[in-house]
Amino acid sequence: MLQKGLEYDDVISEVEKALSEDFHFEDGKILGSMCTQPLDVAIDTHGMFIESNLGNPGLYPGTRRLEGKIVEMMAELLNGKGVTGRVLEGGTEANLTALWIARNLTGRKEVILGRNAHFSIRKACDILKMIPREVDVDEDHVMDVGEVEKHIGDDTAAVVATAGTTEFGLVDPIDKLSKLCEEHTWFHVDAAWGGFILPFLDDVPAFDFRNAGLSSMNADGHKMGMSTIPSAVFLLRKEEDLQNIAFESPYLTSVFQTTVLGTRASAGVPSLYATMMSMGRDGYRENVESCMSRTRQLARTVKDMGLRLVTEPVTNILAVRLKDPVSVKDHLERRGWHLSLTKHPEALRLVVMPHATEETLDVLIEDMTSACRELGEI
Ligand code: PLP
Repeated sequence: MLQKGLEYDDVISEVEKALSEDFHFEDGKILGSMCTQPLDVAIDTHGMFIESNLGNPGLYPGTRRLEGKIVEMMAELLNGKGVTGRVLEGGTEANLTALWIARNLTGRKEVILGRNAHFSIRKACDILKMIPREVDVDEDHVMDVGEVEKHIGDDTAAVVATAGTTEFGLVDPIDKLSKLCEEHTWFHVDAAWGGFILPFLDDVPAFDFRNAGLSSMNADGHKMGMSTIPSAVFLLRKEEDLQNIAFESPYLTSVFQTTVLGTRASAGVPSLYATMMSMGRDGYRENVESCMSRTRQLARTVKDMGLRLVTEPVTNILAVRLKDPVSVKDHLERRGWHLSLTKHPEALRLVVMPHATEETLDVLIEDMTSACRELGEI
């Protein structure tokens, strides 16, 4: 029930109580999330732009300018000279936007996705009344190109691949898929996870706009971008394709709106801009190298314990094969760890974010060893 108004201090202490009930990245024990503690500069700038709403861009030319700068920086990072884009609220909105454009542009309904695609693609198909055609993964747990080739045809509106899969952090064969799609269909690459990782890794095959058949791509600032929620960059090759999702916005400062959301929380824009400027290429590279080094060390330790991995890590996600991953997860949860599971195949999933320090992982290994011994896994 809405009560009589309280004094400021009373309201704050009430809300602080709720905050203390939440779990926080700084405690280090969250290893099942793809988000992390944002940089201080991200938090500070986010707070400065709390009024900002790019749903009504004429009132926020400063925020709009920073959005343009982010798109420019991200386009360069993903080798997309001249590509355009927007900063949206997350990977889900970016994937929905990509498929919305694809459907309206092609007038077709079928979406080819891998079994390894994030569930937001199926969600987008549901919202847009598109038909998901799910293809299997190959023995490396990435989209089977042969299967895509069998399904692609005159009814295909879009093919969706992932650069940094949610379960295992792997990269689909984007170069081969791009060739299949070129001049036939929209090709969207979901790099919500990998977008701020893969550009800083050596020896990764071209996963970005270097592929001529690639139409659009997204990368989340609130994952390895080190910024605040919500921030996600959506890039597309041609600005004019946005006309397919343009709606007249008569009472606002823009003539047309080309986003799913109307009013949109836009403090994530200055926050991501400030983060990108502060991290720079060298900062992101160091961050990725440090996460990867801890991921590889964890992989070695897990194997030394006598356990198997689903696959060698390509990005900072590790999936550990167990007889009963649910029981191991539950056991570790009772010790304060927040982990997650994978489905295909079933495994315990550990996301090694910047807040997962060496010390944290040492304690995790101790707890995991005793859990695995107790449960007869080793
Ligand atoms: N795509 C991939 C590959 C993801 O891993 C995720 C989230 O984990 C998403 C999309 C959805 O992103 P968001 O939660 O920012 O909407």
